[in-house]
Amino acid sequence: MDKKVKTPYYLIDEEKLLKNLKKIKYVRECSGAKSVLALKCFSTWSVFGLISKYMDGTTSSSFYEAKLGYEKFGKETHAFSVAYCEDDIKSLKNISDKIIFNSVSQLKMFYNKVKHIKLGLRINPGISYSHFDLADPARRYSRLGVISEERIMSVLDKISGVMFHYNCENDDFKSFSDMLDKIGLKYEKVLNKIEWVSLGGGLCFTKDKYPLNEFCKKLKNFSEKYNVQVYLEPGEAVITKSCELVTTVLDVVKNVKDIAIVDASIEAHMLDLLVYRTSAKIDAKKGNNEYIIAGRSCLAGDIFGEYKLANKLKVGSTVRFADAAGYTMVKKNWFNGVKMPSIVVKRLDGKVEIIKKFLYNDFLGNLS
Ligand SMILES: *Cc1c(COP(=O)(O)O)cnc(C)c1O
Repeated sequence: MDKKVKTPYYLIDEEKLLKNLKKIKYVRECSGAKSVLALKCFSTWSVFGLISKYMDGTTSSSFYEAKLGYEKFGKETHAFSVAYCEDDIKSLKNISDKIIFNSVSQLKMFYNKVKHIKLGLRINPGISYSHFDLADPARRYSRLGVISEERIMSVLDKISGVMFHYNCENDDFKSFSDMLDKIGLKYEKVLNKIEWVSLGGGLCFTKDKYPLNEFCKKLKNFSEKYNVQVYLEPGEAVITKSCELVTTVLDVVKNVKDIAIVDASIEAHMLDLLVYRTSAKIDAKKGNNEYIIAGRSCLAGDIFGEYKLANKLKVGSTVRFADAAGYTMVKKNWFNGVKMPSIVVKRLDGKVEIIKKFLYNDFLGNLS
């Protein structure tokens, strides 16, 4: 089937997606915690039909994302923004089930316009789990969420819930659990007075061997102890391992090492990896042939990684980058005018659909 589709393309496999989705539904059934998809990680709405059967709605970082969730996903639409403007609030009023504010000042500024909606406040508990300072919500001078319990207490009559997003790629259940206990103690007075608590995203609970039952028990206990509806906001956990970026080798050059150049770019098509200085994973047998695999943009550091492969790479070889769903399509860009990967979906019934091809006109229309 891959032969018919021209590279480069992102290939989303619904069956792999389903594996994650079943776990999310299981968590819902066992713990009562609802899950809303974090659109900033993954917004490829052509597979929302499948995802929405297993999740409770979406959460967003901007009005456009919220609108997308409302139109294409349905169910609950949660809105969050680090800072809303007047127009955002006007538009969000009609589509949001919940609006979560990042600060007390924003809550007070817009309260009268949205008080008929369920409102929430983001809290910065001052603790977090993240491998990267760049993504650490509790980093020094963080602007993400309100810290002072007193300040939160002073607007408690205006909100029905709170959000704690304090994890990033956390696959360590114990650390999540310990931090949740600390949060419970620190914000007990707040938690006793509200209806719902979102625990944010960044938890790898769909990963193989994650202690799912313990996780459920923890969420259920928390929910019962404080009498709150718990929400999770998974992004990466929803789509992990469900997508590949399929590319073709266009040239192999040598500068001390062998360098295979593919018809895609890490800068343009998997930007998150470059930002965090991590390598792309590839689906290929390991062996003794060493290659740097690089992108075709003119950026000197447009490098996907270094690999030891069983097979030699030559012009025309296929290279499949694994785990290409999260923070890829939402961040892709037209740098260098490099051909944009198509978006291809392998449906549950095995049919392969090319859902989007990008042409010169898309490049043209992106600027003026
Ligand atoms: C980024 C983010 C998420 C999703 O994070 P993942 O790591 O993709 O699970 C959820 N909620 C908030 C507030 C976020 O900023």
